Amino acid sequence: MTSSQEENKGLVIVYTGNGKGKTTAALGMCIRAAGYKKKIKILQFVKGSWKYGELKGIELLKGFVDMEQVGEGFVGIVDDNKEFSVHQEAARKGLAYAREIIHSGQYDIVILDELNIAIDLGLIPLADALEVIQNKPAQLHLVITGRSAKPEIIEIADLVTEMREIKHPFQKGILAQRAIDW
Ligand code: ATP
Ligand code: MG
Repeated sequence: MTSSQEENKGLVIVYTGNGKGKTTAALGMCIRAAGYKKKIKILQFVKGSWKYGELKGIELLKGFVDMEQVGEGFVGIVDDNKEFSVHQEAARKGLAYAREIIHSGQYDIVILDELNIAIDLGLIPLADALEVIQNKPAQLHLVITGRSAKPEIIEIADLVTEMREIKHPFQKGILAQRAIDW
């Protein structure tokens, strides 16, 4: 394989584990890729509203990176009072939308933030997610984040990094910090 062919190999990249930094790692990739004028789409599964910092930060990369939330926000925590089936329906629609985005030809990198959580919670069937991942266009980089990545996802990925918690300020009762956590 020539070096240019190697450069065009679209990777399946997984950031998982209990330690902090999975979404941050994906956002960091956006900065690097935007430097090459690559087009990046971020779809966030499961969680509630966007955090102010990344929302505003990504506006600064307008034209290269954009993000959308799919799903119905927090599941089973915070102010969630929706039926589980409502979350399931939203997450499944989210996966169908992700498939469209992946095949749209408009993006070099697609980030499915917290997809692992959506699978782990049973919102999205593992087999459906695997099908989307395995059928991605060859040159597209697909990034999947979230703790509790399923072994089958790890198996088909090219790059898997586990963020392992060694220390987190939360253990000392220090709350989430502006510009670091949100
Ligand atoms: P980040 O978005 O900061 O990169 P993450 O994507 O690795 O974090 P998530 O599981 O998505 O982690 O959790 C999101 C929020 O939970 C973040 O505000 C993060 O600071 C916080 N968090 C992440 N890891 C831990 C941890 N080990 N203990 C306590 N809070 C955590
Ligand atoms: Mg995250």
